[in-house]
Amino acid sequence: MSNEQLFERAQRVIPGGVNSPVRAFRAVGGTPRFIRRAEGAYLWDADERRYIDYVGSWGPMILGHGHPAVVEAVQRAAAQGLSFGAPTERETELAEEILALVPSCEQIRLVNSGTEAAMSALRLARGFTQRAKIVKFEGCYHGHADALLVKAGSGLATFGHPTSAGVPPEVVQHTLVLEYNNVPQVEEAFGLHGREIACVMLEPIAGNMNFVRGSVPFVKRLRELCTEHGALLAFDEVMTGFRVALGGAQSLYAELIPGFAPDMSVFGKVIGGGMPLAAFGASRQVMQQLAPLGPVYQAGTLSGNPVATACGLATLREIRKAGFFEALGTKTRRLVDGLIAAARGAGVPLSADSEGGMFGFFFAPDLPQNYGSVMASDKDRFNRFFHAMIDSGIYLAPALYEAGFVSAAHSDADIDATVEAARQALRA
Ligand SMILES: *Cc1c(COP(=O)(O)O)cnc(C)c1O
Repeated sequence: MSNEQLFERAQRVIPGGVNSPVRAFRAVGGTPRFIRRAEGAYLWDADERRYIDYVGSWGPMILGHGHPAVVEAVQRAAAQGLSFGAPTERETELAEEILALVPSCEQIRLVNSGTEAAMSALRLARGFTQRAKIVKFEGCYHGHADALLVKAGSGLATFGHPTSAGVPPEVVQHTLVLEYNNVPQVEEAFGLHGREIACVMLEPIAGNMNFVRGSVPFVKRLRELCTEHGALLAFDEVMTGFRVALGGAQSLYAELIPGFAPDMSVFGKVIGGGMPLAAFGASRQVMQQLAPLGPVYQAGTLSGNPVATACGLATLREIRKAGFFEALGTKTRRLVDGLIAAARGAGVPLSADSEGGMFGFFFAPDLPQNYGSVMASDKDRFNRFFHAMIDSGIYLAPALYEAGFVSAAHSDADIDATVEAARQALRA
């Protein structure tokens, strides 16, 4: 069956034909590609067309598809049993591995998705501080827990409005949504509500509005305000963790802000290497509020699944090897520099940025600093570019507010072919 036929068939039995909305290509139009198989940097669709993949399952596939060490670990684990509902040594091994790379966390709990991890971190922050209010930022995505599906209210004294039907306003009444990188707004919010704020959650490099860095003064001020008011600073590193650097985005900020560390961290994507696995961690004092030790309840039938942990461990062992992130960062930078040069050659305003194996580009002359300016970039041009690229075998994220990912399997020749395709797309 072709992509078209598969999409039609899927739409009869699955809402929109997809199990996660962005896959439906609604933002860019057209038929989503049904993927049949993948290897290294490439995907093949139902029409047997090959694509260079810059989505990487939205982040996890940092080694590329089908890395032999990962496949072998998964196969071996599967043969030993798919799930036990009892503790395994591998869970401890993975926790040890993560904690060794993330010094801000003393303990970690494994869950199945980034949504679950962020939701659980939030409950833990509220339980630990015995406060209700939370601060998030417009354009940051922390999964689809009710309290986090919120858009900005009309002012700082008003709390958010649900962004989804099915979320009663009273469920989000404690969620304050502020503008990313806006220091005075955060100061004002703490001035008004400081004693009631349980936690501030953010994507330190926001990848759910393409690619927007938290500025150093912004992150530094968040750290100060949280400390001053007894709120927890939670870094959602589901996307950036083990992707922008081995120690996540927090390791980059720790280099720029002396003594910097978040209080809580949320991980997912790369730590599962393509299997359903995520985690949240903090100091021992905070984590010991969780059941069975403390009063904050959290649980999961498949949490710490033996096959998922094998996949995550094998992935982390590869990316820990010397020079991995230097090589990945250089390759990603080659792509971004190529895109900038191609756009300049075509006289098209384009800005782009990258860190480690994560990148973003905007049809706007300057890099946006918040959601408003991301959304002001040229959407029609993005959509035309997306279609020209996918038609020439380059698979980019099908929406302008998504980050892109390069894997270790991408060769310089893949990058150069991508830049050449971009050059032609931008000239058209
Ligand atoms: C992907 C993502 C999530 C949600 O993770 P899922 O596994 O899709 O539930 C949460 N936070 C961030 C920053 C993400 O990028």
